[in-house]
Amino acid sequence: MPNARVSRFVIAMDGPSGAGKSTVAALVAARLGLRVLDTGAMYRATAWLAHREGAEGEQALAALALAHPVSFQGSRVVIADTDVSEAIRTLEVGQAASLASTFPSLRRALVGQQRAVVAQGGWILEGRDTTTVVVPDADLKVFLTASIEERGRRRWVQLRDESPSLTLQTVVREVVERDHRDYTRADSPLELAEDAEIVETFGMSAEGVADRIVALARGINAS
Ligand code: C5P
Repeated sequence: MPNARVSRFVIAMDGPSGAGKSTVAALVAARLGLRVLDTGAMYRATAWLAHREGAEGEQALAALALAHPVSFQGSRVVIADTDVSEAIRTLEVGQAASLASTFPSLRRALVGQQRAVVAQGGWILEGRDTTTVVVPDADLKVFLTASIEERGRRRWVQLRDESPSLTLQTVVREVVERDHRDYTRADSPLELAEDAEIVETFGMSAEGVADRIVALARGINAS
């Protein structure tokens, strides 16, 4: 049974690409009775729509994000009345989202929407500025980590059905490039919040990582 107070928690989960944030967030949410806000899906969906609309540049993307807020309908991701749940998971859309996410006005638009969604509590947010920018006052902040090789391998396993010619090396290189962009961008770089709990995921199953986060949340609730 989800504890009444934990079920009003806001948990923010940060960490680099491929650390397992989405999988773990879904498991933790189910265990604690929370809903998941996949912030990366919002960058991906906006980048997808920009491509469809031929929109380019910071102002055009920010305007698009404000005009077409992403909605989550169950596990489906919807933008501009289009279900993009699968379309946004490709390598190309990931790259476009990573580039788009360097635009400060786009970030402001999406962060504003993210804060409004979670304002009443009962959410786990996952994404790489959630602990430092979106909800720095979250009840629990978690930073998931894993090596570049491990993260590349996980991404490759996710992508290879759809793109059988994709090599592990290509995906690892893409993870390195994305890390570089995420750590060095001027606005909201990926960084470790001072009071975030660091959870190393190497050699652990997603369930094991989720167990650890659930225990942390229950520990806060009990204290
Ligand atoms: O996590 P995911 O791979 O779906 O995120 C797609 C891209 O969106 C990432 O490369 C990252 O640069 C960006 N992003 C971000 N801030 C977030 C979530 C994602 O900049 N909170």
